[in-house]
Amino acid sequence: MPRKKAKRKLNYRRIKSRSSYYIHELATVLGVCPNTIHNMIKAGLPVIEGSYPYLIMGEEAIIFIKARQEKTKVTLKDEELRCFRCRKGTRAKNSEAVLQIISPKIGNLKAACDACGLITNRRISLKKLPEFYKIFKVQQLPDPRLIQSLDNSTICETKKEWKNA
Ligand SMILES: [Zn+2]
Repeated sequence: MPRKKAKRKLNYRRIKSRSSYYIHELATVLGVCPNTIHNMIKAGLPVIEGSYPYLIMGEEAIIFIKARQEKTKVTLKDEELRCFRCRKGTRAKNSEAVLQIISPKIGNLKAACDACGLITNRRISLKKLPEFYKIFKVQQLPDPRLIQSLDNSTICETKKEWKNA
């Protein structure tokens, strides 16, 4: 059944990208009820792996909210991730991706955009995981610190040959 989506814009500028938030904290910052944050998590907002109660990186929340607001309707190919800076589906740098398990059915692939280096996310069904394993060198990370180290290593290295793909 189609549900009416709230049109209100969330002010993600109040979120600090380098801070992590509990659900209620993020809700307070955004001026929404915690259920809104729960729904965002269900819709693919990544939580810090292993955290309970859930912790959300500010940066992830910002990316997620921005993406929702921009409503970029890009159909992704299997080998693509959505880059919000390039505003299109892009490939992962070196085909390397990090897998974060969000729920028994849903995972989040995280990789650096091949064109601009921005960390991009893609929510995937774990059923399709074997297909993604063929495309990406997938690393499953239990430790969020490693995700940050990936973050730090993203230096823009444009590879022209992938542009035509
Ligand atoms: Zn990009």
